[in-house]
Amino acid sequence: MSPSIPENLENVRHLISQFEKKYARTPDSVQLLAVSKTHPTGLIIEACQAGQKHFGENYLQEALEKIDALKTYQLTWHFIGPVQSNKTRLIAENFHWVHSVDRLKIARRLSEQRAKTLPPLNILLQVNISHEDSKAGVSLDELNTLASACNELDNIVLAGLMAIPSPVNEFEQQRESFHALREARDRLINQGITDCQHLSMGMSNDFEAAIAEGATFIRIGTGIFGARE
Ligand SMILES: *Cc1c(COP(=O)(O)O)cnc(C)c1O
Repeated sequence: MSPSIPENLENVRHLISQFEKKYARTPDSVQLLAVSKTHPTGLIIEACQAGQKHFGENYLQEALEKIDALKTYQLTWHFIGPVQSNKTRLIAENFHWVHSVDRLKIARRLSEQRAKTLPPLNILLQVNISHEDSKAGVSLDELNTLASACNELDNIVLAGLMAIPSPVNEFEQQRESFHALREARDRLINQGITDCQHLSMGMSNDFEAAIAEGATFIRIGTGIFGARE
């Protein structure tokens, strides 16, 4: 039998704390985001009962059903998939974080559609760090302009950057991409965008390199819930 969700979580948490020590990171400065896309609510409850509070979803309709079904658990929901402009209202109304904003139009709509009675929506800008072919993500050249514009908007907080670098196996190569994202974040902070602290980077096969370079959220699906269908 394959390990259970509590065992998987325990393993990932153990590795996170080992890597925090190894790379002189502050203890508990790396948050584990459990990517639950395609997995049923029963598995999310198992993870929650093992202490997991942050969950990431890519598909809006599926996510809304889960958010509604799991209201009483007081989970923190992160939208990590591509954002279409006709979906922004439901995202703004139902999520706490959006990791995948790469256009001003999307940021504006999220800002306008976030209820003023709710805390501001945390957004991260997705950066196309290794010029991956998938067109998602703002280029490093355009990041500054986009970040400055987002920083002016009400009802959202520009809380950091996110990247999905092209998969490579070599540790030093993995580190290079994450290093570039970290430098981009540091430049924004130095320009006065002081809330831009988070780095959402690192998945199952590269999260050690991401933690070495300052990741504050790592996003793990398969390593917690098993393979998706
Ligand atoms: C699916 C997904 C993950 C998790 O991937 P796994 O391979 O299941 O660990 C992380 N980040 C993003 C943006 C994803 O879409």
